[in-house]
Amino acid sequence: MPELPEVETVLRGLRARVLGRRLTEVVVHNALVIHGDAERFAEGVAHRRVEALRRKGKALAIELGAPDGDAAAGRVIGAGSRGTPGACFLLVRLGMTGQLVVVPRAASLEPHTHVRIALEGGAEELRYTDARRFGRLRCCSPAELDGIFSRMGPDAPEISEAEFSRALRGRRGAIKGWLLNQQRLSGLGNIYADEALFAARIHPLAQPGRLRAPEARRLHRAVQKILKRAIELQGTSFRDYVDIEGRPGNFAPRLRVYQRSGAPCRRCGKTIRRLIIAGRGSHFCPGCQPRPRSTAQPTRKKTPR
Ligand SMILES: [Zn+2]
Repeated sequence: MPELPEVETVLRGLRARVLGRRLTEVVVHNALVIHGDAERFAEGVAHRRVEALRRKGKALAIELGAPDGDAAAGRVIGAGSRGTPGACFLLVRLGMTGQLVVVPRAASLEPHTHVRIALEGGAEELRYTDARRFGRLRCCSPAELDGIFSRMGPDAPEISEAEFSRALRGRRGAIKGWLLNQQRLSGLGNIYADEALFAARIHPLAQPGRLRAPEARRLHRAVQKILKRAIELQGTSFRDYVDIEGRPGNFAPRLRVYQRSGAPCRRCGKTIRRLIIAGRGSHFCPGCQPRPRSTAQPTRKKTPR
């Protein structure tokens, strides 16, 4: 699943390839990946220039300028009736397997291509593909985007150590679940949460509110360091993630615990184990991440979500 480093990589790719260009024709092949009405989405996004790119956690927002005068008079029927002729945002959540790629318009259609957005000039287009269709594209107003972003916790690379420690205070449950909760901290998913806990030598069932100050500090540092490194290496590819050019990320060889259960720990040699916490497989080293005396309980079975 794309996490913050993968989304940041996509954002940087878009900045290089799409920023400043106009989006022209929008074709929705599968309305399931559109939040709200697909026709309104297509009308809302078409004939606008990409003015900026923003990200919070795993959410990517493409800022689009006001629709062109000629287009407003022609193709974008209804834009005026919505009352906000100004800027809008194309909000993208990649879900489990969403991909945004820029390809020549003539390129053959990959399976699961749900949305195609032509770029000014006519030779290239932006395509959204998503095998499992948990991702969503949404056209929203600046106020709607502010609302969505404000409900998310601080962006993981931005949060200060003091803010991080404060947010842990009094929290029960498992630290692994806390790290995954996007309302507390946004950007981490299963891969980097497991890796950060290993780097900080903290057991995934440790309780957030019971972490000692040095542990909280180590975890904050580990989160920042791992995200930074993963961004430098264009993220981690397991099954589906690719960047805007269709290339996989390079972080996978750096993984110490994620998807390594049964293999020896590269630090101490003990066997990496796996537990289900908050419905997700959690990988950890029992040697490097000793279980504290008081912990949260592991989930007995995988809970449906
Ligand atoms: Zn170890």
